[in-house]
Amino acid sequence: MDLIYRFDPYAPLDFKRPKTNKEALKTLVQGNQRFASTVEHLQKISEGEKPESMVFPINPVQLGVPWMGGLEPMHAPFAAVLGCADARVPIEHIFDCSANDLFVVRVAGNVLGLECIGSIDYAATALRESLRSVIVLGHTGCGAISAATDVYLAPSSFATIAFSHPVRTLIDRIMVSVRSSADALEEVYGSKVSKQKNYRELLINASCFVNAAITAYDLQREVNSVSKGLVVSYSIYDMAWASANATPIRSKDEAFDRKAFATAPSNPEDLQRVSREIATCLSPASNPKKS
Ligand SMILES: [Zn+2]
Repeated sequence: MDLIYRFDPYAPLDFKRPKTNKEALKTLVQGNQRFASTVEHLQKISEGEKPESMVFPINPVQLGVPWMGGLEPMHAPFAAVLGCADARVPIEHIFDCSANDLFVVRVAGNVLGLECIGSIDYAATALRESLRSVIVLGHTGCGAISAATDVYLAPSSFATIAFSHPVRTLIDRIMVSVRSSADALEEVYGSKVSKQKNYRELLINASCFVNAAITAYDLQREVNSVSKGLVVSYSIYDMAWASANATPIRSKDEAFDRKAFATAPSNPEDLQRVSREIATCLSPASNPKKS
């Protein structure tokens, strides 16, 4: 099977950019669907099928370079994305975006430190003309969130896991999400949920989603203080199925069947409601019975 990048200098250029937050989110959803479809195509090879070659149209603008040499392209992303530094989550690839489409800030656990806020503030003000959306993108199986969960479950391991001040800063920022997730799991499944064998896995999974929701909640307030009308949304990239979802998915069938993005919670009560909804959506196969 061949993957072909094809440049046709005579093909018309598509300069259409999202004009609203809704259009920006739709563009990201469609890009994620294209990415997942490419992934599926490639996986079919290992299953013995012989899929047809794929052709990807490309031009200099998509690569972030000018059509003609000697000119700098104008910085004009349509979305700012705060994502995790995890090497398995290349944000432009996941959303099949070109250079200059996304203003990306990546940090372990997609936590909201001062430098991250400063970078997003810059995008929300200096790049406001093109910017239509702000996204917090977490992912399943996040190492930073797993570490915070382990510290929560075994506080005595804190010295080993959070061995340095900078790492402790990350763990501390994520801890509120882990605690909120633990409360939500207890509310949904009963007080004995923490005795279940798969509790650590459930807590990590829930915390990845709740952490993105809490970060979006905080980021929306920051964005409101510097720019009007910008909506912050959140999503989680599911590494098993290559799809972005606002709530946990149970199988491949649910990938792209669920809403990909959710708007940042508007108040603490909304945040609690979102945490409960996330807990409810976890896999029934691994869910504990209510006790
Ligand atoms: Zn991560």
